Amino acid sequence: MIKVVTTKEHPTCAASFFWWRRIFIGTDYANIPPSQRVAVVSHEVGHVVGRHTELKLLCLLLCPLAYIFLCWWCEIQADRHSVRCGNGRRLLEFLKDEASGGLLHPSHATRRRYIKKEEKQLRKVHVKNQHSKGTA
Ligand SMILES: [Zn+2]
Repeated sequence: MIKVVTTKEHPTCAASFFWWRRIFIGTDYANIPPSQRVAVVSHEVGHVVGRHTELKLLCLLLCPLAYIFLCWWCEIQADRHSVRCGNGRRLLEFLKDEASGGLLHPSHATRRRYIKKEEKQLRKVHVKNQHSKGTA
């Protein structure tokens, strides 16, 4: 079970450590249009389900040079989770500005590219499944 905690001290983010799983709803959440909030929370659930905090801690201990790459990968994976939950369009809308990202986050343009790629992949699987159902 993942607990959702509201806080004034954090931006909206996720954290987990094995059994301890939290999504922190920060003050920035109030500025997100309601239609996009589900996509943001779903992204954070992706971080928790993917055990990204644990992976990052392990990476810092074992291979600190790979940390930046891992942080980027975790963002893309959390976006994939949100897309697979049906939030691709809402996530694209949320990431519509041209934020450049930073050292530990891919830019919004990069994330949008991966989101569109994932949506395209899901459509292919959906069409393939429809065809296989039709012939069975
Ligand atoms: Zn994230």
